[in-house]
Amino acid sequence: MSKTIVLTGAGGVICSTLASALAKQGHKVAVLDLRKDAADKVAESIKKEGGKAIGVAANVLEKESLIQAKKEVNDAFGKCDILVNGAGGNHPLGTTSNPYLVAEDLMNKDEGFKTFFDLDANGIQFVFNLNFIGTLLPTQVFAMDMVGREGCSVLNISSMNAFTPLTKIPAYSGAKAAVSNFTQWLAVHFSKVGIRVNALAPGFFLTDQNRTLLTKEDGSLTPRGNQIIDQTPMGRFGEPEDLVGTTLWLCGEGASFVTGVVIPIDGGFAAYSGV
Ligand code: NAD
Repeated sequence: MSKTIVLTGAGGVICSTLASALAKQGHKVAVLDLRKDAADKVAESIKKEGGKAIGVAANVLEKESLIQAKKEVNDAFGKCDILVNGAGGNHPLGTTSNPYLVAEDLMNKDEGFKTFFDLDANGIQFVFNLNFIGTLLPTQVFAMDMVGREGCSVLNISSMNAFTPLTKIPAYSGAKAAVSNFTQWLAVHFSKVGIRVNALAPGFFLTDQNRTLLTKEDGSLTPRGNQIIDQTPMGRFGEPEDLVGTTLWLCGEGASFVTGVVIPIDGGFAAYSGV
């Protein structure tokens, strides 16, 4: 059955791939993004392939913007059946320069060098807001359409760093842990009104955000890139397409008794102790 599916952050790498895969199943997809041009581009390419899509400007941190976006979606496609909360990410202001603190670091006056003690509360807050509030607000706005209807669900995007934090990125790891926790909380809260709530926990996907951290200009791996591949039993980075199967399953009838789960899609990274 054709559903109306809203995806936030869908001008980006991962959710544009999910939007296109969902449209290929015959669903009507609303591609929401802060960058309207990126949202429109994704919607146009879906339409070119014969799918039904609209690009909609929306800021996941502003309720008014989301309410306006919902009006556009409702006018074009009717009530929202499924929400994919994809907007999210890290910020350099919530990131330390080194994985471990050593005493000499406290003497390092290099421009931009940051220990734990230099982390900026505004930077941390930006990352928490984008990932956590940016999941909560769209759910408040779009899940209203789902209450008491059949086959509705919310799919959040957490991260494998929610299970065990990654070095250097305390804000992003903590924010995604909050998204995983919220996924369970909301699954219970919505259980009596027929809305399932689940999350994907992607491992390392090579995207524009992390390409320079993980690969050099010639395409070879940086030390951090190598470390990741060494810790990934399946020996490669993820591709956005690796998330499609689980997304279709969690959004479909096959998962009708599945709620409150956070599924790692990480080539075994979270399961591997390193030995
Ligand atoms: P991306 O940067 O390609 O896409 C994110 C999109 O969100 C961008 O198009 C951006 O314009 C949009 N956005 C940013 N702020 C917004 C706001 N306030 N309102 C609306 N839209 C906003 O990133 P991606 O790699 O596709 O990541 C998608 C999701 O997957 C994120 O939640 C990310 O944290 C998560 N994730 C990514 C990886 C990875 O390796 N890439 C791993 C685990 C989890």
